[in-house]
Amino acid sequence: MSGESILRLCDVSFSYSPERQAVSRVCADIHAGERIAVLGPNGAGKSTLFLLLNGVLRPSEGSIRYLGKTITEKNINVLRRNVGIIFQDADSQMIAPGVREEISFGPMNLKLSREETARRVAYAISCMNLQGLEERPPHYLSGGEKKRVSIADIIAMEPAVFLFDEPAASLDCANEEKLEAVLDDLSGQGKTLLISTHDADFAWRWAQRVLVMQGGIVRADGTPPEIFAQEALCREANLKCPTLYRIKKMLEEHNLLKEKGRFPRTVEELKALLGER
Ligand code: ADP
Repeated sequence: MSGESILRLCDVSFSYSPERQAVSRVCADIHAGERIAVLGPNGAGKSTLFLLLNGVLRPSEGSIRYLGKTITEKNINVLRRNVGIIFQDADSQMIAPGVREEISFGPMNLKLSREETARRVAYAISCMNLQGLEERPPHYLSGGEKKRVSIADIIAMEPAVFLFDEPAASLDCANEEKLEAVLDDLSGQGKTLLISTHDADFAWRWAQRVLVMQGGIVRADGTPPEIFAQEALCREANLKCPTLYRIKKMLEEHNLLKEKGRFPRTVEELKALLGER
């Protein structure tokens, strides 16, 4: 993709302890509006990378640029304001005694008007299906409900870049679908979305680009078909092969599809491909 990147990582490394690097010499250009899935086994460095991108952690080596501006201690707030992170552990994000207050906290900190805060909070509550839970204390909600509040928190901040660390982990099917609709909506608004996930089927249908992390490095960076065609990579990085990719390959092997190049991302697209026969 051409054009200026919204985020650029130049040789970024980070270590929690002197013995080993959690993220090692990562270089990547992230463009505005991209939908990126970050895949890789446990301990690959995905969460650490997100914490670096949002300015919670600072690189031990290398640098991060936001819209061409190098991030330093002095302007770290550029990252904290524009790059929102939804943590894997929703509890670590909750601070207020009620759901509505919790979601209002971020916009109020940005010193937005009362009307604008109310508009954003109402939008975030409806996006995450939280109607009826507004006055409940976040700490007494279920894991999935807390997760939805933590996502609403960040939606209300309206950052340019959203980092979702395994967002669907504790959601039921209905709320997982709702989350995907919200992701489409955010993507339609031009937001840049990075999602770390173990769900290869989701990555296949949703992502334009996949980054595979392993042992702290970005091992591969490409479109979903480019990534999942690499059998050794998938095996070594514990990536499951997406179901629709496997079906497409099987149909090709049995000469049941004329067109080799096109990959269906959804069941509807597969049906359309089959219908063309
Ligand atoms: P992933 O998100 O891909 O599972 P992480 O970024 O959480 O990977 O972890 C990368 C490496 O850093 C792992 O070896 C992990 O054990 C280590 N690590 C993560 N968080 C901490 C921490 N707070 N203190 C020390 N080591 C950590």
